[in-house]
Amino acid sequence: MNSVSIFTFNQAKHTNLAILGTACFVCQKISDELLRCGQCKRVSYCSTECQAADHEGHDKVCEALQRAPKTTPSFLRRMIFERGNTPYDLEPDIYLLYAEEEKVFDDLFKDMHMGRIHRDFLLYEPRCAVCLRSADDMRDLYAPEFTSLLHCSDCRAAFACSEEHRAQYLDEHSRELEDGESFTECELNKRAYEHSLEIVTRGWTKGETFFYPLRLKPEYTPLPSSWDEWFADPFNLCPPNSSPVLNRIRTKQLSIPMTILYGMELFDKAAGDLPLLTSRTELEIAVVGANEFELKFGGLACFEEILHSLPSLRRLTVRLINPEIICGLIGSEGLNREAMDWEPCALCKEKGVEFVHSIHPQLFHEYMEKPIRFNLKEGMIQDAPAQLPDIAVVFNSGMGLKYEERSHWSPTLEILAEHGVPTLCTAFLKREAEEDTDYLNMHRCNIVIERHKNPWRSEALTKMVMMRKYFFTYNGFIQGFRGLRERDEELELVDRSESPVITKELLAMMLNATLTFRGL
Ligand SMILES: [Zn+2]
Ligand SMILES: [Zn+2]
Ligand SMILES: [Zn+2]
Ligand SMILES: [Zn+2]
Ligand SMILES: [Zn+2]
Repeated sequence: MNSVSIFTFNQAKHTNLAILGTACFVCQKISDELLRCGQCKRVSYCSTECQAADHEGHDKVCEALQRAPKTTPSFLRRMIFERGNTPYDLEPDIYLLYAEEEKVFDDLFKDMHMGRIHRDFLLYEPRCAVCLRSADDMRDLYAPEFTSLLHCSDCRAAFACSEEHRAQYLDEHSRELEDGESFTECELNKRAYEHSLEIVTRGWTKGETFFYPLRLKPEYTPLPSSWDEWFADPFNLCPPNSSPVLNRIRTKQLSIPMTILYGMELFDKAAGDLPLLTSRTELEIAVVGANEFELKFGGLACFEEILHSLPSLRRLTVRLINPEIICGLIGSEGLNREAMDWEPCALCKEKGVEFVHSIHPQLFHEYMEKPIRFNLKEGMIQDAPAQLPDIAVVFNSGMGLKYEERSHWSPTLEILAEHGVPTLCTAFLKREAEEDTDYLNMHRCNIVIERHKNPWRSEALTKMVMMRKYFFTYNGFIQGFRGLRERDEELELVDRSESPVITKELLAMMLNATLTFRGL
């Protein structure tokens, strides 16, 4: 479960708790006697030695942390926090505060490559779980001497502005979470620290967390039933220095090919007389709504696992289709060349299999009408007429977001359903997956893979930035359709409009997505 964006760095040096100020910023130690910097009141150290070790690096951070809150005038803070809105309604405002404060960081760190890591201080600023006030808000509005929020003594990652709010939150904090795999928020927070500590102490490198076994399956064998079994299988070459925590981190990237393979197996089980997907010699996959998730974390490397698992396959074509895909390609670390120039591994080359891939900054229906390809040499170019993919995958789209009955997903779903393209849809959260089901039903998509928890979901739960709570997981739930349902079949549309939480949660997720696109 990762909880902070420091994990997008090659070498993460600070745990999530160090960023939150409840673990030593230098040695990551947890202690009840941490020394908090008296200036920024944010960064903590376990000892004067650790503080001295960070002296040079902290100066600039300290300055930024002191200067950033001043971008918000007190009257604005008062307006936000004293109008009596629910925390859900406050979140967009807090995002605006963040955007202002970020400018200070950008300004101070503009010449340094380290800018992003320091911005984690803003993204994960501790806020009261009940009223969402941060220590800065408390200082500005009520008590200039206020130092820091109270934190849960167990997980150290949940905060409260007062004893009263702490007591109010305690019950929720120690209750089992929805979609939380029977974990409480407190337990998940503890795992998040475990997770981030492992990365920091091991010194995170791409090679360690992006793992794809370099081996070819001699014959097609169905997937096992869980990640644990998969990692335990010697054939999958899990490195001997691995650990359960590291394996959980690895599932984030591996979830992409494994979810596709799993979906292909399920479509094959329901295929009847239709040709099977898992025994094809050529396969074209359209990743509809592809984004950073498919590009950044190992880039196209992850699709090789499909080539490695299906021995009959001689050619794999992957089309990454999304108007916003260029944002994913150009992160803050520059252009992601790997996502554009991926060469298959030596084993694939030796076998003589082909791996074709292309990037199309379009909506799927636009791509089907008039495909445009993006590449490094030529930029945007008109492409040859598109052919229907053998399988389409729509990862974590939130297509069922109840804003309007028809959205830009409608023409895409219509084409996919009309032409009988097996289409796999995943969602971060159960409630989102339920909304997707409604949306698919609304478009008469013939659901052949019923919505269920995806065994090949990412085990690295992610905590939403700026939120005081909520974890989500990539590819958490899965469902799939093939073709159109007969017109006379009953629609089973469920009205879920009475639940206001959903919209807010999705809004939060959109904010998170926006940040992701901005390379945070
Ligand atoms: Zn220390
Ligand atoms: Zn400081
Ligand atoms: Zn509070
Ligand atoms: Zn806790
Ligand atoms: Zn390969």
